[in-house]
This record gives sequence, C-alpha cells and structure tokens, in this order.
Amino acid sequence: MKTIKQLADEIWEYAETGFEEYKSCKAMCEFLRQEGFEVEEGIADMETAYRATYGSGAPVICFLTEYDALFGMNQVADKTEYQPITTNEDTGHGCGHHLLGTGAIAGAMKFKEYLEKNKVSGTCVVLGCPAEESGSGKAYLARDGYLDNVDIALTWHPSNYNQVVTGSSQSCIAMFFKFHGVSSHAAGSPHLGRSALDACELMNVGVNYLREHMESSDRVHYAYTNVGGKAPNVVQSEAELKYFVRSTTNPKCLVLKDRVINIAKGAALMTETDVDVIFDEGLSNTVPNFILEDVLANSFKKVYTYDYSKEELEYAQSFKNTYNIINTLSDLPEFVCDVEVLKEDIKNNPIHSYFAETKHSDVCSMGSTDVGDISWVVPTAQINTACYSHGAGSHSWQWVAQGKSNIAYKGMMLAGDILCDAAITLLENPKLIEDAKNELKKRLGNDTYTCLIPKNVKPHISKS
Ligand SMILES: [Zn+2]
Ligand SMILES: [Zn+2]
Repeated sequence: MKTIKQLADEIWEYAETGFEEYKSCKAMCEFLRQEGFEVEEGIADMETAYRATYGSGAPVICFLTEYDALFGMNQVADKTEYQPITTNEDTGHGCGHHLLGTGAIAGAMKFKEYLEKNKVSGTCVVLGCPAEESGSGKAYLARDGYLDNVDIALTWHPSNYNQVVTGSSQSCIAMFFKFHGVSSHAAGSPHLGRSALDACELMNVGVNYLREHMESSDRVHYAYTNVGGKAPNVVQSEAELKYFVRSTTNPKCLVLKDRVINIAKGAALMTETDVDVIFDEGLSNTVPNFILEDVLANSFKKVYTYDYSKEELEYAQSFKNTYNIINTLSDLPEFVCDVEVLKEDIKNNPIHSYFAETKHSDVCSMGSTDVGDISWVVPTAQINTACYSHGAGSHSWQWVAQGKSNIAYKGMMLAGDILCDAAITLLENPKLIEDAKNELKKRLGNDTYTCLIPKNVKPHISKS
C-alpha cells in the first residue's frame, strides 16, 4: 500500500499540466479506491476529473483537490540553485498542487476514519478538480451540478504562511479576438489591403482609453496571440489578441466584457475587417464565508504545532538564502492581524513559525481562482499552511525544489489534519452548517449562480 508521502512524490514526478493530468488522476483514484472510497472518473466532460465518496447521509463535506503542474517550472528536487531536469518536459509543481491534492486526500481519509469509528451519518467527498492554473476545472464542476448535494466545501493551498484565507477574488472572462482582413503588397497596393493587425492595435488603444472609465478594482489585460506574420511589406490579413477582463463580481464582469467587445467591433468597423469573439474561460469571484473561516481558525489553533528538526530548519534556511528577503517583505499576505510580528518572523526564522491570525475581509484581491465558482454554490473556505521556507513565493523554481522535502510533507499533513478537524466540528455542530449556508444566501442576495462559461463551451486546453 502506497503512503500519502509516496502519492505526493509520484504526482510531483509526473508534473502534468491542466487537463493532461492522466497519471496523477489515476494514482489518486486508485489510492482512494484502496481506502474504501467509491470513485467516479471522467466527470463533467473532463477525463482527469473525479469524485470519490465515502459514507452516506448528511452532512456532505467536500474536500477540494488540485493536481496540475506549470509549464516552465522544471527543476531538480532539493537543489538550492536553478537547475532543470534535462530528461523532463519543461513542467513542474511550482504551485504545490501535488501537495494540495494529496493533503486534501489525507484530510478526507482521516474524516472517513472518524465516520467509520463513530458510525454516524455523514458523507465524505473528495472532488478531483483538474486544470486550476489554466482551464477552470472547478467552474465546470460547479456549472454541471457536481456541488449541488454538498453542504460544505473545504480546501487549502500550500504557502509560505500558516493562515486562514479570507477576502474575495476577481471574476474573470478570457476571450480571443480574431480579426480577419485582406492581404496585399504594403507598398505596391496598400489601398487594397485591410489590416487585421491595425484592428488589433486600434482595439488595444480603445481599451487603453476605456481604463480611465472603469472601476479602479477592474482589470483588463491583453496579449498578442497572432501578430499576423513577420513581413512588414505584407498587409496582415489575420491577427489575434487574447484578453482577460476582470471585475469584483460576475454581473459586473459581464458588463465590462460587453464594453470590451464593443471596442473590438469598433476596431473592426474602422479597419473594414471582421472580428470573431471566441470565449475561452470564465472564473467567478470568491464569496467569503466568515462562519467557516472561524471554524478553520479554531481547528488551526487546536492542531498546529511548530515541530521541525535541526536538519529541516537548515534545509529551509538554505532555500531562504536564495531569495532577497526585502522582496518578501514587500509582498506580505493581506489581512494578517499583526503584520509587524510577521515581518519579524520572516527576518528571523527560516520558515513561518506560528499561526498568523487574519481579520475577516470582504475585500476583493486582484487575481482569480476557480474556487470562486464553488463558493457561489456551497459555503466554502480555505487555509494556507507553510510548506516552503520564507523567501520565494509560488511559481518559482524554489517551490518546485522543496516540493518533495520533509517541510513540504509536514505542511501538507498539517493541512489535512486541520481540514479533518474542521469537518468533524461541522458534523458535530449542524448549527454551524446552517449558519454558513445562511451567510452564503445573505451574501448572494438576489443573485443566483450563473457560471461565466456558457453551457455550450466544453472543457478544453486553451488554444487560439
Ligand atoms: Zn498557481
Ligand atoms: Zn495554486
């Protein structure tokens, strides 16, 4: 029988990116089957999504997993300088999702043991959510009803810090704008050409003017995904942009998206080109849940211990030394109650050495996550645990390198223990579940969940 540590290490080795997590998904499903869970694979039109269930009846507590890796993050384990593995593809677990998925399973297994031992009503669900980095896996699961019978969703993310996550995140819509024109000789017959590249440029100029008239918490960014070719003496007939449109709530994001589309239409009109708008991805804003944040904070305080050997602290220090600490001090987690204490910890310790309490917040942080979609449907909350030394943050080679270490493993097991303790607390106190549900209802008001991904869009790897 494989251990939890071996499962995490295996997924680290596979380092598969969004919607291609075939081996990682299979390893998790096999592991859960051996643990006595009933496992459904390939759900919601995603080959690498799964749902594992144990027990029956209410409450239904869902542990969310992730297991996708990142491109450009290939790195040798435990090495304190950047060194890619030459035999591997250029992918790696720079966001720690091998720990995320496995730690959630560790928590679910423990919760399963509790259900078994106490012979109580309750269902433990592990939801296998692929493609977090790009692909919006959880949004499809929420859209297609996989959370409808769930009472509470709990999750975590590996981090440099021990804290309960609070606040909201942005809604986001990703779209391609494909402009079609007419090619011609740029010197000999420019009057016959209709430039798709001009259309892209005018669209971007238009959006740059739009920025002055959006809410300051909105964000719009773009990239050229096709510049139309390398020849200046050809009028470019095909060119394409990819846009992200972000706002603080889904309804606002939809309005902003329409304003951006209008600008694209204007650019097409000006240049006598045509434009196709191709929907790519959609992520909902996160709805915080203070009731659940309190439950997680209490479990954190109950379960957390600072317990590292001398070797583990030296290991963490060796990675802390690879990064300029000033940068860390300028990028502290939001909503921590005592920032000065945290700064001292960062300066003086190799790894976060205590549980940092956070103040409840509704404030929307810049950036988006597909946990947002789940949080519209079911009360959801998450924690961070320190799996990495102070210093470099997520999406760094330092995180990949530390991914199989003892400190990473300890952070992962801590997260599993806290999530399990919270699940038990909720099961034993049904009033908390009711309160968490009422809080969600109150926050949504008259809004109901409408996934930003239209029904006809299937899960896909983003391609222009
Ligand atoms: Zn990430
Ligand atoms: Zn991540």
